[in-house]
Amino acid sequence: MKITVLGSGSAYGTPMIFNDWSGANSGDPRNRRLRASVFLEDENKRLLVDAGPDLREQINREGIRDFDAVLLTHAHYDHIGGVPELPRASKILGHKIDIFASRETLEELKNCYAYLFTGMGEPDSGGLVWHVLHEGKENVAGLDLNVFFVPHHHMQSSGFRYKNFAYVTDWQALPEYARTQIDGADLLLAECNNGMEPMQNGHSSWPEIAERLKNLKINRVVLTHLSARVDYRTLQNQLPEDVQVAYDRMVLEI
Ligand SMILES: [Zn+2]
Ligand SMILES: [Zn+2]
Repeated sequence: MKITVLGSGSAYGTPMIFNDWSGANSGDPRNRRLRASVFLEDENKRLLVDAGPDLREQINREGIRDFDAVLLTHAHYDHIGGVPELPRASKILGHKIDIFASRETLEELKNCYAYLFTGMGEPDSGGLVWHVLHEGKENVAGLDLNVFFVPHHHMQSSGFRYKNFAYVTDWQALPEYARTQIDGADLLLAECNNGMEPMQNGHSSWPEIAERLKNLKINRVVLTHLSARVDYRTLQNQLPEDVQVAYDRMVLEI
């Protein structure tokens, strides 16, 4: 299984607009972050997780030629800003694109992009096939996932376990069912927007994550969805040995 971090940044990327690097060292290329997204490849299947505003850049930068499905974790801009690119992607690929999202996320998407659901408006708005993602076992892109929901602001974000890999983004707590799903994972890729600083913003910091993972068996943790306040080197130096900071284009193989 190959997991490519297409984007390791938070909602506003690093640097943010107007070249604002906040707390990140502009001299370290690992601090240059597009919005959070992951590309999972296994058994000749390819799953794109989230389609944010940097989608086009990420697909082109990695030379990705196709995918079997898209999973949208939740309906915040940094995770769905690229969804309106998908009708054109479908046209270029010459096949329909399956998109999986929770009922709550789909409702919000309909508010954001009504024309993508009616087939009206854009002449090429078709080509998208929407699927409701439930908690529990789901076959997505031909891969057997175990989906779980985590609280994030006023909404829920969908995480998943696939074989020995678990992914969770935009979370502020770990409910019991989600906890059982990530337990025993070889690799957990997790949002750590706030670095070492706990904040009340719907996101996570390493001290909070460490507390949540207590008593769970997880070999390796990689932290992603990092705010511009977070400097790669500074954060990495404060983490235990089995915890790594993600960067754009990082490839994880398990
Ligand atoms: Zn986010
Ligand atoms: Zn979010």
